[in-house]
Formats: sequence, structure tokens, C-alpha cells
Amino acid sequence: MHENLTENQRMITEMIRDFGAKHIKPYMMDWDESQEFPVDVFKKLGELGLMGVLVPPEYGGAGFGYTEYVTTIAELSKIDGSIGLSLAAHNSLCTGHILQFGNAVQKQKWLPKLATAEYIGAWGLTEPNTGSDAGNMRTVALPDDDDYILNGAKNFITHGKSGNIAVVIARTGEVGDSHGMTAFVIEKPHAGFTHGRKENKLGMRASETTELILTDCRVPRENILGNVGEGFIQSMKVLDGGRISIAALSLGIAQGAYEAALAYAREREQFNQPIVNYQAISFKLAEIATEIAAASLLTYRAAALKDLGENVTKESAMAKYYASEVCVRAANEGVQIFGGYGFTKDYPAEKYYRDAKLCTIGEGTSEIQKLVIAREVLR
Ligand SMILES: Cc1cc2nc3c(=O)[nH]c(=O)nc-3n(C[C@H](O)[C@H](O)[C@H](O)COP(=O)(O)OP(=O)(O)OC[C@H]3O[C@@H](n4cnc5c(N)ncnc54)[C@H](O)[C@@H]3O)c2cc1C
Repeated sequence: MHENLTENQRMITEMIRDFGAKHIKPYMMDWDESQEFPVDVFKKLGELGLMGVLVPPEYGGAGFGYTEYVTTIAELSKIDGSIGLSLAAHNSLCTGHILQFGNAVQKQKWLPKLATAEYIGAWGLTEPNTGSDAGNMRTVALPDDDDYILNGAKNFITHGKSGNIAVVIARTGEVGDSHGMTAFVIEKPHAGFTHGRKENKLGMRASETTELILTDCRVPRENILGNVGEGFIQSMKVLDGGRISIAALSLGIAQGAYEAALAYAREREQFNQPIVNYQAISFKLAEIATEIAAASLLTYRAAALKDLGENVTKESAMAKYYASEVCVRAANEGVQIFGGYGFTKDYPAEKYYRDAKLCTIGEGTSEIQKLVIAREVLR
């Protein structure tokens, strides 16, 4: 996926390969089948520093940049997309929002717990009726003395049930006003804050996805990130970073699907020779390999620019859009190369195929990425 690895990237890659062989691969199909969210795996990833990849060491994190973060998510996702997705949601969204917009007291209070996986983090922007159109949200937060009272529901929230802490965006102003929303931190257990239905999903089945329900949920003003009215604008900035991690997730799944298909094509014989000898098959592999290389360049470019402190709205949307579409194509061709065996659970192709589709949807669909890119190029 990336040829000139730095020392840190090489160390991360080897660490994740060892970790995956021991703690993920033997169990992942059972988790997938039963939709179990393996909390213990994330506690162990916390011990390795991977639950606070971008968190500075003074808050208990690894203190790496986005380049190392991309390597982390991609390597994990090559093994199991669900683990990659959950790690990305924890690091980029909940932890990332507090890291970017929390004050010193808030960072000191919550980041060490998130970075060590004492806390698993959730982030609630999406609602049942507002996904792409998140700015139109209906969850409200009304001031009451030194508190705000939150009412509403959030949908499709990663770690909505198992998360110990959530950043929740709620309306504090008029509908349609992008400065009318505010980000609140809520720790669990908390009166009036619970989870709803757990989704039964096509893929990413070991990554937990549930509703969050807020009923007269009283949150102190000191739990507001930044200022009242900044929550939506903050969220768009959080997603600029988050989309790089979904591009990395896509890269990892695509690479896993490609490597599995390549190995199978060398081994499977039809008409007395390995199927990789047929141009119809080798051209598929050539196309996937080329597209993965291009997706990798876009993703690491966005990461490098982010590490330089540049605005990456366009670059992260391009990386997320392209890498996620490549991921779906790679997983699709992977199943095709496996033939009938690709349609069974005895081989990895079908899981890559199911997991891949989330990448073109989560943290903004491909259509929304194109809207973002178009807005940027037409400026
Ligand atoms: C597994 C999973 C985990 C998730 N985790 C989280 C999480 O942790 N926190 C969180 O807040 N959210 C999370 N989400 C929500 C995710 O971000 C949304 O599903 C996504 O943004 C799309 O919103 P939607 O599902 O409401 O689709 P919709 O917005 O209803 O879109 C439906 C279709 O219409 C298209 N469309 C919509 N508007 C336009 C337009 N203007 N122009 C062209 N096409 C358009 C879309 O591209 C899509 O094809 C998660 C979702 C999933 C599936």
C-alpha cells in the first residue's frame, strides 16, 4: 500500500500483523456471525497506544501524525474492517473532537481515558431523518441555569451502547442556521442518556452501531466543546480528518481483498492451468493493483497535508471518495476471481465484499464527497 515506510510505520505494521494473528484472525468470523463487538480487543489496542494514535503523549497518547494513523487503520482493516472502522470512529470522531476543540481542563479530564481505552468513545451527529443533511438536525438543547437539557435521538452511532463517553451535537439555535448547533460531552452512566436499537448490518458486523436516545438529559455547560453555536462547524472540521481514516479503512479492505484474490488465482487451476494465466483474470488484478496504488497516493497526500496543518477539506474528500469506490470494486472483483468459493464463508472474499460497502456511505456518502469536492474546485 505504501512502499517507502518510515521507521514508525514499519513498527506499526509489524505490531499490527502480530496482534492480528493472535487476537483478531482466530475469532473474527465468530464476531461477524454473532455481531459481537469485541471490547477486549480495543482494551488491548489501548495498551499498544492505538486508541490515542493522534493524542499527544502528555495526554497518554502515542503522539503520532496522520501518516502513521493511515498506516494503523489500513493494516488493521486489511485483517478485519470492523476493527478498523471502530478504531477510526473512536480516534477520529469522539477523541478527535475533544482533541481539536476541548479546553485544557476537558482534554486533561477525558483524553487520557480515551487514549488508553479505559473509555470507548462515540460521536453522535446523524439522526434518523438527517444523515447527509446533518445540519437540519432536530435534537434540541435548551439552556436551564448552568445546564442544558437535551432531547432527541441519534442514529447509526458507532459504540452507541458500549461507549463510555459520547460527543453529541444538538440544536441550540434555529433550524437551518449552521451556527445553531453545539457539541456536548456526555459520560455514561448519565440520567436521560441511553442507547436504542442495535442495527443488524450487512457488513462491519463486529463494529457496534446503535441509536442514542436523549430524554430530558441534563448536561452542564462545562461539558460544551468550544462555544455555543460552533458544534456543526466543528463537526465538519472533525470529518475532514475522519475522512482520511475512512480512506485508510478502504485501502486496507481493498488490499486484503486483492492479496487474497491474487493468492487464490495462482493456486486455483481450471483447464489444466492456474487461472492467473488467463488474461481475463490477470487484467482484473492489474486494474485493482493500479487503483489501490492511486488510492494510496491520494490518502497519504491528504495525511501529509493534514500533518503540515493545511486545510484538507478537498484532499480528504477526494481520498475518501476515490479509495472507497476502489475498495468496492476490488472486493467485487475479489469475489469474482474466487468464483463459487467467493460466495461462501470458507474464504475471506465474501467478508471483504460485505464490509467494503460501508466505505462509500459512512462519514459522508460518495455523492456528498462529490458535492464537497465540487464546492472546493468551483471556489
Ligand atoms: C455502520 C455505520 C456507522 C456509522 N457511524 C456513525 C457515527 O458513529 N456517528 C454518526 O454521527 N453517524 C454515523 N453513521 C451515519 C453515516 O454517516 C450516514 O449513514 C451517512 O452520512 C449517510 O446518511 P443517511 O444514511 O441518512 O443517508 P441519506 O442522507 O438519507 O442518503 C441517502 C442517499 O441519498 C443521497 N443524497 C443525499 N443527499 C444528497 C444530495 N444533496 N445530492 C445527491 N445525493 C444525495 C446519498 O448520497 C445516498 O445515496 C454511520 C453509518 C453506518 C452505516
